[in-house]
Amino acid sequence: MSLDVSPKQFKRWIDEAGKLIASHYQEHGESKVFAGKSPSEVQELLNESLPEDPKNIGSLLDEVGEKVLSTITNSAGPRYFGYITGGGNQVAVLAEMIKASLNQNNLKWHSSPVSTELERLVMRWVAEFIGYPTSSAGVLLSGGSVANFNCLAVARKIKAPVDISDEGIYGSRPMTVYVSEEGHSSFDKAMDMLGLGKKYLRKIPVDDDFCIDVDQLEEQIRNDKNAGLHPICAISVAGTTNTGAVDDLNAVADICQRYDLWYHIDAAYGGPAAKVEGVSSMFSGIGKADSVVVNPHKWLYVPFEAGGVLVKNPDHLRKTFSTIPDYLKSDEQNGGRTDLMEYNLPLTKEFKALKVWMTIKAYGATRLRDEIASDMDKARYLSELVGSNKKLELMAPVPLSIVCFRYNPGGMEESTLNRLNDNIIQEIESDGRVFLTGTKIKGKTALRVCFINPRTKKEDIELLEKVVLEIGGKLGRDRV
Ligand SMILES: *Cc1c(COP(=O)(O)O)cnc(C)c1O
Repeated sequence: MSLDVSPKQFKRWIDEAGKLIASHYQEHGESKVFAGKSPSEVQELLNESLPEDPKNIGSLLDEVGEKVLSTITNSAGPRYFGYITGGGNQVAVLAEMIKASLNQNNLKWHSSPVSTELERLVMRWVAEFIGYPTSSAGVLLSGGSVANFNCLAVARKIKAPVDISDEGIYGSRPMTVYVSEEGHSSFDKAMDMLGLGKKYLRKIPVDDDFCIDVDQLEEQIRNDKNAGLHPICAISVAGTTNTGAVDDLNAVADICQRYDLWYHIDAAYGGPAAKVEGVSSMFSGIGKADSVVVNPHKWLYVPFEAGGVLVKNPDHLRKTFSTIPDYLKSDEQNGGRTDLMEYNLPLTKEFKALKVWMTIKAYGATRLRDEIASDMDKARYLSELVGSNKKLELMAPVPLSIVCFRYNPGGMEESTLNRLNDNIIQEIESDGRVFLTGTKIKGKTALRVCFINPRTKKEDIELLEKVVLEIGGKLGRDRV
C-alpha cells in the first residue's frame, strides 16, 4: 500500500501549501515579531496524544496556520534584528520543496551524483565569492558551530604531535588553541567535545576595536611552548558575533607560519562581505587560512540550515574523516568519484546545495554583494540615528552590519544603566513591534541589532529607534 495520493490530488496539496506560504509573506509587516506566548500557552496549544487516525490534509494545513504560524517568531520579517538571523529568500523556498521531493542522500557519490557535485561546486563558488582558493575542498554542514567543530577536528588531527586516530589524544602533551576573547562560544564547545579541554583554549585580549591583540597572542604562544604545551591552532574571527570586528588576518597568518600552527578563520557571519567594496581591505589575508567557516544561512540569505567549511588542502579533510566500513565500499573501480562522507562527520546528509545553488544563480553574485552593502548602509544609518540622539549611546564601532548601543538619558550610574537596558530588552520582546537581543560590551549591557535581511527598510529602522526611546523613556521615568 502506498502513502501517496494521485498526481492531481498531490498538485492540489502543493497549491494549498503555496497559499499558506504566500499569506505568511503578505503578513510580514503586520503581525508581532515575537508572539508573546508563554511556554505553557504554547505547550497547551500543541499538546495532544499520539494520533492513531489519519487527518485530512486540508484541515492539517489549517492546523499549521492556527498552531504553527501563530506561534513562530517572525525572523523572516523586516523587524527582526536579533542574533545573526537571516530571513531566507523566496527562491530557496522552492528549492527546499524540490529537495524534499527528491530525497537525495548525499553519503556517497553514486547515492546522489548531483548532490555531491553541486555541493562541491557551490563551495567553490563560496570560496570565489570570499576570495579563497578554489582548489580547496568544501562541505556544507548544519551551521557554523558544527563547521567550527569540523575544522578544529582537522587541526587537531593534522597538528597533533602523535597519530591520534587510534590512540586518541592520550599520548600527547596538552594541545593549545588560540582565539580572541570575542571568539564564538562554539570553540569552547568544540574544545570540550574534542577532548582538548576548554582551559587550553587561550582567550586573547582585544584592542579598542574588539580585534585580537596580536602581540599578546604571540606572547601567549611563546609562554605555552616554554611551559611544555603543544600549540596547534590559532583562530582569527572575520566578523565577530558581538560587534562584527574583523581581526588582522595577515598578522595572525604570520604568527601561524612562525610557530607552525593551523590557521583557522571563523568567517561564519562576516565572510560574504570579504569582497564587497569599502570593506574588502579588512579581509586581506583570508586566503592564507588552512580552513575557513562561512555560513550561507547568514549573510548569503540562504534559509537554515547551511554552514560551510572550506579546507585549503583537501587531503587534510579526508585524512580526518575517512573511515570506510565494508558496507560502504563497492565502487572503487570508478575513478573520479568523491564520496562526501569522507570529508565530514555525517553519513546521511540532505541535499543542502540545491538551495545555495538556486539562490546564487537566481540573484547572481553582484546582486548578493549589493544587498550586503545595503545591509551595511542600514547599520550606518542606525548608528547615525544613535549618534544624533542625546538619549542613545553607541557602544562599539560598526565595521560591518551589527550595531551595539544603549539607552542612556544621562545622569545615571553604570549599574542603573545596565539594569535599565536589561529591562528595555525584555520589554521590547513583549511589546513585539520589533525584536532585538542584548549583549555585554566591556561588561556593559548593550542592545544589539544585526542587519542581514534585505526586507528591512528605512522605516523599520526608524520604528526601532522610536520603540527604544519610548520604552526607555517609560522605564527610565518609572525608575526616578
Ligand atoms: C553565528 C556564528 C557562529 C555559529 O554559527 P551557527 O550557524 O549559529 O552554529 C560561529 N561563529 C561566528 C563568528 C558566528 O557569528
